[in-house]
Amino acid sequence: MSADVILPGATLGVLGGGQLGRMFVQSAQAMGYFTAVLDADPTSPAGLVSHHHIRTGYEDPQGLAELARLSAAVTTEFENVPAAALNLLAAQRPVSPAGSSVAIAQDRAQEKAHFVRCGVPCAPYAVIETPAQLAAVHASLLPGILKTARMGYDGKGQVRVKNAAELATAWEQLGRVACVLEKMLPLAHECSVIVARGRDGSMVNLPVQRNLHREGILSVTEVYEGNLPQAQVEQALAAARSVADGLDYVGVLCVEFFVLQDGMLVVNEIAPRPHNSGHYSQNACDVSQFELQVRCMTGLPLTQPRQHSPSIMLNLLGDLWFKDGEQAKAPAWDQVLALPGCHLHLYGKHDAKRGRKMGHLNVTGPSPEAVRSTALQAAAILGLEPF
Ligand code: ATP
Ligand code: MG
Repeated sequence: MSADVILPGATLGVLGGGQLGRMFVQSAQAMGYFTAVLDADPTSPAGLVSHHHIRTGYEDPQGLAELARLSAAVTTEFENVPAAALNLLAAQRPVSPAGSSVAIAQDRAQEKAHFVRCGVPCAPYAVIETPAQLAAVHASLLPGILKTARMGYDGKGQVRVKNAAELATAWEQLGRVACVLEKMLPLAHECSVIVARGRDGSMVNLPVQRNLHREGILSVTEVYEGNLPQAQVEQALAAARSVADGLDYVGVLCVEFFVLQDGMLVVNEIAPRPHNSGHYSQNACDVSQFELQVRCMTGLPLTQPRQHSPSIMLNLLGDLWFKDGEQAKAPAWDQVLALPGCHLHLYGKHDAKRGRKMGHLNVTGPSPEAVRSTALQAAAILGLEPF
């Protein structure tokens, strides 16, 4: 085994205390690692379950120094951490993914330029940083979606615009910050793939996921043989691999795609971390996306994950707590868990709010038909729209 492998017993650090950090921490602990989380929120989902919780912001030099002191290696669960924080940590400890990769993923303009460099098709777009660039927008990009270049997630920081007048108003509304205007594409559906790339450039992947978004937020992920035409699966994998290789990426990377009505595959964006659409891997694959994150950052070998069960993931947003009125009330978990192959994951968030990700339900079954039938029954109990 190579000398610089970080073995169980060491402490692994993560920037960010959200649900992705929590599930990373839980995976790392299951493998015998200790964990340290940096997040200012004393009740952060990951902080609550970690051995160490450093309660500072991402830019606090003392907090970052403490994280470096405690940790043998550091990762992130949140792409909006300042790349400078990752670079500072990287001077002392192995950090994956690298600040340079995260910097690209956190800026839609740089991200799109990277896709173009890799020869992977993306939506036609224009960068808007100045009034002159706004005025020069080509009519072929409209109707479109104006997206802030930075800090967007779950459809936030996006405005749909039909014409040049609406575009100008939207840019004002977004505070004239740097934006990307994307042409509105006729989507047939969406898919994503998780790859994990090691320090030596070796790469493994999870199966390609078919995703249903509602109001800009992931709602349902379906993963089983036949969820997508084989040609799309192969194209998505090839594109994800070239995007990761082009970044010389180390870590878990999610690449999201649009499938257009004519069948063409177009890359949407990347997330430099495990992703909501990969959660099914916890119960349906022999290696989950969070274990892949542990293996990447420690230099442990990457083995190709095998999906052992067809699976559907239902996202559990806070909206489900308000089905009976304004008083928050948890869904009937006991009824859901009476169904076969239902695996409940809740993130330990105290307050349910509309649009807030509270947890997810992974449904596994012996066949795509069986898993769909169970997932639809679970959705009906939860009050989720059928799909
Ligand atoms: P997330 O945090 O879930 O990744 P986000 O805020 O980064 O979301 P996007 O992925 O850019 O947002 O867009 C959210 C959703 O809006 C997409 O999944 C898709 O359903 C729709 N959408 C975005 N861009 C386009 C486009 N150019 N054409 C058609 N639909 C789009
Ligand atoms: Mg997205």
